Amino acid sequence: MMIVMKEAATEDEIAQVVERVESVGCSAHISKGELLTVIGAIGDRGKVADLGLEGAPGVDHLAPISKPYKLASRELKKGADSILEIGGRKVGGTNFALMAGPCTVENRDQMLDSADAVAAGGATMLRGGAYKPRTSPYSFQGLGREGLRLLAEARERTGLPIVTELLDLRDIDDVVEVADVIQIGARNMQNYALLSEAGKSGKAVLLKRGLSATIEELLMASEYILKEGNENVMLCERGIRTYETAYRFTLDLLAVPALKEQTHLPVIIDPSHAPGRRDWVESMSLAAAAAGADGIIIEVHNEPEKAICDAAQQIPTSEFQDLALKLETITGVVGKTISRG
Ligand code: PEP
Ligand code: MN
Repeated sequence: MMIVMKEAATEDEIAQVVERVESVGCSAHISKGELLTVIGAIGDRGKVADLGLEGAPGVDHLAPISKPYKLASRELKKGADSILEIGGRKVGGTNFALMAGPCTVENRDQMLDSADAVAAGGATMLRGGAYKPRTSPYSFQGLGREGLRLLAEARERTGLPIVTELLDLRDIDDVVEVADVIQIGARNMQNYALLSEAGKSGKAVLLKRGLSATIEELLMASEYILKEGNENVMLCERGIRTYETAYRFTLDLLAVPALKEQTHLPVIIDPSHAPGRRDWVESMSLAAAAAGADGIIIEVHNEPEKAICDAAQQIPTSEFQDLALKLETITGVVGKTISRG
């Protein structure tokens, strides 16, 4: 049973609920977010129900959640969508996020040119990896701290919040200093230590679905972040492994309605990594918006043919504005607006 406290609940009221839960032999797990405190009562559900906590001081409502993911569950919020606010831009509900930028930060000119162009073209956040998860250990691994410094400079001039990947726990302090959104990559979706620490950082987190992860595994992974009291979590479908070899990954757009049925968290689509080629990125972006996604994260580069990684799939900055305009139309059709703060 989850006991959702009112926003204005006092420490005393929280302590009283915990005491009553423990008095019937159950344990209480407190998850204290910026807005919401949720107490998970673990043990005999009947005994907790008999406590009559509904209407107790500070208690908003009780949510009996049958799913293994509790804090991510849509039932927790009585069916409502979570709306995140990141640097003045909203994500979730009727708000659509347009995150764009290069796969990786390569050098100052590349990063700043790309950033200026996506800002002018209507992006709501800027992406770029300073730490890259590469299949080969001999491939470019990212500029590291220098990359983070360039991202900070790009934010300074464009005002766009930064989405950047945290690959390794050893870099968390550096990444947290610059990131407005910490990206957890597909390969780290089940790196539970990393998820917990990203949760503790208090920064918004974009959690990408693992290459072979089920929807339920993705939701369980998000629970590791949420349980640290971090409510600012977005889930991201980026393509999964199937038998199909005609493209890099299979973009699973059914993840949008399937996730949205189960969770209050915003759902983002990465239309770039599954096609692996730029001419298929626009249709997947528009399809994501039409499917009801809460945003996309798309790779855009000032000179894609010269890109160090993912050169084939990054769209040129010159094509970005046109895509943003088309997205404006499609989001409008499904009742969303691109939130630019
Ligand atoms: C990326 O977004 O740059 C990336 C590496 O994505 P993924 O973890 O989905 O492969
Ligand atoms: Mn990439």
